[in-house]
Amino acid sequence: MTHLECGACGAEHDASRLHNLCTACGKPLLPRYDLAAAGRTLTRDSLRSRRSDLWRYAEVLPVADPANIVSLGEGSTTLVRASRLGDGLGCKHLYIKDEAGNPTQSFKARGMAVAVSRARELGVSKVAAPSAGNAAGALAAYAARAGIEAYLFMPRDTPRANIIETSFTGAHVRLVDGLITDCGAEVARGKDAEGWFDVSTLKEPYRVEGKKTLGYELAEQLDWRLPDVIVYPTGGGTGLIGMWKAFAEMEELGWIGSERPRMISVQADSCAPIVRAFESGARFAEEFPNAATVASGLRVPKAIGDFLILDALRESRGAAVAVTDAELIEGAREIARLEGIFACPEGGACVPAVRQLVATGMIGADDRVVIFNTAAGVKYLDTYTQ
Ligand SMILES: *Cc1c(COP(=O)(O)O)cnc(C)c1O
Repeated sequence: MTHLECGACGAEHDASRLHNLCTACGKPLLPRYDLAAAGRTLTRDSLRSRRSDLWRYAEVLPVADPANIVSLGEGSTTLVRASRLGDGLGCKHLYIKDEAGNPTQSFKARGMAVAVSRARELGVSKVAAPSAGNAAGALAAYAARAGIEAYLFMPRDTPRANIIETSFTGAHVRLVDGLITDCGAEVARGKDAEGWFDVSTLKEPYRVEGKKTLGYELAEQLDWRLPDVIVYPTGGGTGLIGMWKAFAEMEELGWIGSERPRMISVQADSCAPIVRAFESGARFAEEFPNAATVASGLRVPKAIGDFLILDALRESRGAAVAVTDAELIEGAREIARLEGIFACPEGGACVPAVRQLVATGMIGADDRVVIFNTAAGVKYLDTYTQ
């Protein structure tokens, strides 16, 4: 890693110091690497003999000393061919990237493993974050393993599994009457007085680096030919932004060409700030009023990385689509019925999204399409039995 660069104004920041947002403009910072140097040891062939978790991409991750890595074996999840589901949707080459296989049963583990490792490297002793649920569970787990104190703020109606798994680690849990944005405000209010490092997604430069490994893995699993379409259930958008960054890095490493998948954001229609901004042509998304959806990971009324999500959707000639709560729950049932995967509601949202996109011609029958099951269905028993 050479430095941190602002995703909006391009200002450069010293990566050896702790940072949250860009001090010049208040937008997210993204790590940059000397990719020519990285590529001397990190090659496509070299991956075959490396460890299987996401730390196999060490040269393009921010942790300098391997002794600081805090790992539970995150990453390297399966990419499942979903032929039966695909047949029903009119999509011959459909794949599910099943992120339930991660530690803490959600893909938040990718980001938190990297953020906590780097925080430890920089001497952090207390971390705090707002969470819709899975981020709290993952941050609490990695903080516990690192011996770092964690303070988590979640909406009171967060799935019970998330609250219990977080509490079990001994993390400090506060339930807030409000949305994740209200939880974020609590972190902002307390952090200076309490000495917390704020690990809110994209207000800290390293969670996105963990999530970008989704992009590296997909390329390798598809034999270095990226899919035609990526359908991503979008809350803060960290995974989508991360994959887009990974594709650029892999092109610079000479691993792939300039072709890119069409990037699609799926949101719940009752919390669809990105869909609204995409449709109106806006560069930034307005806060979505009265946000509410059973897909807790998608209950993000305002994303700090909104412009990075929208840039990727537009540059890739992708789209943003909204689905109803009833449709996304039914989508999760279809994934279970046809592919045997007990998916989370956010993963379920990808199914009606693909159906819409096939109907409008945005997805062709021969396109290679990847959808994500971002967490395990068992974490949502209260949602599924309502
Ligand atoms: C956080 C989360 C999402 C949204 O991920 P972002 O990268 O923040 O957009 C989707 N699904 C689940 C299960 C999540 O926990």
